[in-house]
Amino acid sequence: ITKPLTDLDIAYGAALKPIAEIAEQVNIPDDALEQYGRYKGKIDPKKIPGEPYGKVVLVTATNPTPAGEGKSTVTIGLADALKQLNQKVMVALREPSLGPVFGIKGGATGGGYAQVLPMEEINLHFNGDFHAITTANNLISAVIDNHIHQGNQLNIDPRRIIWKRVLDMNDRALRKVVVGLGGPTQGVPREDGFDITVASEIMAVFCLATSIEDLKERLSKMLIGYTYDRQPVFVRDLGIEGALTLILKEAFKPNIVQSIEGTPALVHGGPFANIAHGCNSLIATQTARKLADIVVTEAGFGADLGAEKFLNIKARKGEFHPDAVVIVTTIRALKMHGGAEKSELAKENIEALSNGIPNLARHIETVRNFGIEPVVALNRFITDTEQEIQTLLNWAKLNNVRIARTNVWEEGGKGGMDLAKQVLEVLDEPKQFAPLYELSDSIEQKITTIVQKVYGGIGVEFSNQAKKQLKQIKENGWDQLPICMAKTQYSLSDDPTLIGRPIGFTITVREIIPKLGAGFLVCITGDIMTMPGLPKAPAALRMDVDEKGNAIGLF
Ligand code: ADP
Repeated sequence: ITKPLTDLDIAYGAALKPIAEIAEQVNIPDDALEQYGRYKGKIDPKKIPGEPYGKVVLVTATNPTPAGEGKSTVTIGLADALKQLNQKVMVALREPSLGPVFGIKGGATGGGYAQVLPMEEINLHFNGDFHAITTANNLISAVIDNHIHQGNQLNIDPRRIIWKRVLDMNDRALRKVVVGLGGPTQGVPREDGFDITVASEIMAVFCLATSIEDLKERLSKMLIGYTYDRQPVFVRDLGIEGALTLILKEAFKPNIVQSIEGTPALVHGGPFANIAHGCNSLIATQTARKLADIVVTEAGFGADLGAEKFLNIKARKGEFHPDAVVIVTTIRALKMHGGAEKSELAKENIEALSNGIPNLARHIETVRNFGIEPVVALNRFITDTEQEIQTLLNWAKLNNVRIARTNVWEEGGKGGMDLAKQVLEVLDEPKQFAPLYELSDSIEQKITTIVQKVYGGIGVEFSNQAKKQLKQIKENGWDQLPICMAKTQYSLSDDPTLIGRPIGFTITVREIIPKLGAGFLVCITGDIMTMPGLPKAPAALRMDVDEKGNAIGLF
């Protein structure tokens, strides 16, 4: 028996084209392409003429399970299929974070024959972007502590600093730290903490800014804490927005790479969807929309997180909307939502499948609530039985749901033909898109709308701390911002163990953090952590480099 090829084997076996050839396919002007080696580049968005016009296909999914869904895989495979149908198409994806690469989830470059390449370099310190974001974030922390050490002219209350340090690593030991220990020459002691880089407000700002000028303006507006008399302190008070923009100026140019089938892909910015807003940079999406007729893009985790934020935050900011939404699901994941154990997934189980379908149904309702008719992509696994597939297809037929069998992991673009054809049909249909809430709604109302129309729950409760913050946010006049929910990805509720389609639940908001540069209010629910930890056996244990310099164990 031969061992099945890993994603890395397939990636190394692919024949890559020089990046200039890929750029040429979508007429990127020569002087706009900056090459980073042979197969990677950055595009200077200022040198791309015209206005964004391309239609957007948003790829989302049912709630993730340990069985895996394959959103990135389907995103890339769908674009490859559209290219095979002679469409001028580009992919826009997030950059992987090193936390999950070395942790449990792995990288984020797709899988099987639907991958973006070079997967190894995209998964590891891709063109330095996350390092730049980490550095910019930590410059703010260093300047805050130095300011206090040098006499604290701004009267910053060290107990009320909300700006945290970041690192692109899952490192639970750093969640809460004390800095400035060691006596007067080492600074002023205070409690601090680390978030993972993807949770930094700079990541959100980076992903929502429309230009370098807008980037600087948003950075200057970021709230870092309060004075002893409770007045807000902003980055502009520290006078470092110029330095921050300088650190980020190269990173801010979208990265271009290719899929195995040579489809151009912009991979840029990477906030998680559970603790942040979950979509690649707006500048990458808009640049791709200037270059291609169709842009296939992904929002993280299930439609309750990534898609909700894409549609309520990013689309509103960018003044566009997707013309098609694809919901990726798998028989295996639905069986888990219906109560099957992970170890039993290879066995046919129609009952568990039927019990799990309501999770998919909830996400379909969510997308319909935004005025878009979704297409479900059934991402085929070899263990799916024909009877299981028919059960899902019959359910879809009965409920007027568009569904396409998708086999891009095994076959590349060819396996996405049915999906691509259905997506092309939807793109041409008229639609009435609208975000679910108005910015002028109260914070309580906005959250209630999300809980009811997206999660399928009853309402929201606030902790005492959140109530105090709510009052302060209203007093400061920041209540007109959109909401960025920080919630577990595993459940529609804020309890990760409530899989499937829970009903009758309320969501508890523990904390509300104003992110004034990003322009949203982060509402932290349940036990969600903005600095993940590593599992007992992290993926790092299986990684290595061979004598030729090739990576081993990335996935
Ligand atoms: P997501 O974007 O939803 O997190 P990915 O596309 O990154 O998921 O896929 C997660 C993992 O599952 C990858 O390692 C990929 O190779 C694997 N995978 C995806 N689809 C399939 C499939 N149809 N069959 C087998 N493995 C798959």
